[in-house]
Amino acid sequence: MKKLIILFCMMGSLPVVSNAQGLGQAVADAIGSVTISNEQVAQYSKQAVQQMDAKNPVAGANDPYTQRLNRIVGPFRTIDGIPINYKVYAVKDVNAFATADGSVRVFKGLMDLMSDDEVLAVIGHEIGHVINQDSRDAMKSALRRSAVRNALGAGPGAIGRLSRSQLGDVFDGFLGAKFSRDQESQADDYSYDFLKRNGKNVIALATSFEKLAKLSGGSQGGKVAELMSSHPDSKARSERIYERARRDGLAR
Ligand SMILES: [Zn+2]
Repeated sequence: MKKLIILFCMMGSLPVVSNAQGLGQAVADAIGSVTISNEQVAQYSKQAVQQMDAKNPVAGANDPYTQRLNRIVGPFRTIDGIPINYKVYAVKDVNAFATADGSVRVFKGLMDLMSDDEVLAVIGHEIGHVINQDSRDAMKSALRRSAVRNALGAGPGAIGRLSRSQLGDVFDGFLGAKFSRDQESQADDYSYDFLKRNGKNVIALATSFEKLAKLSGGSQGGKVAELMSSHPDSKARSERIYERARRDGLAR
């Protein structure tokens, strides 16, 4: 079965768990009692990405997609002081993600859909989530949920070493994290500023939204539309970008 599209900010259906609404009081207490340091988050993020890399077909150094991605990201190996490592997953999903440790993963399906400028715009948006610490917070929430599950199964306790399946669970939680509208706007602004200061095409950010919106309305299946409907403001987001571009004299 064809894998479904996940919009590039991982707008899935899972709730953000730092928000304990809907959970029982005992679970909410357990969430509150878990302290997770930023360092732990970075370590777990790194482990989770390593596991994702092991599970997915990573395009090799000579793969045309890897070469294209390298061309697109060119000099952007360190962004705002964070060293970024890039890889392509040779899968059809229209997807990309970035994690708190500076790993950016771009899926072949997204590269097939987007122009070079648009791929860079999407990466800029994802890195925006990292810089703005949304990725860290989403990972923290996923870890908390895992901690809660463990606590429910085996009594309360701090997060320890995670098994592979737990780590997989945590990462699924991370990928399902739903960022708020403000977080999305701020990541959009980050990408816009990043593109602008590097003399890149800011309009590509808007057109990447348009392509995703169009795709979600197409024949790809109900789940896509569902993901999109959880994020009805993509038109407003692209309009905002056009508006900024007009003000900056960068609209075409
Ligand atoms: Zn996003």
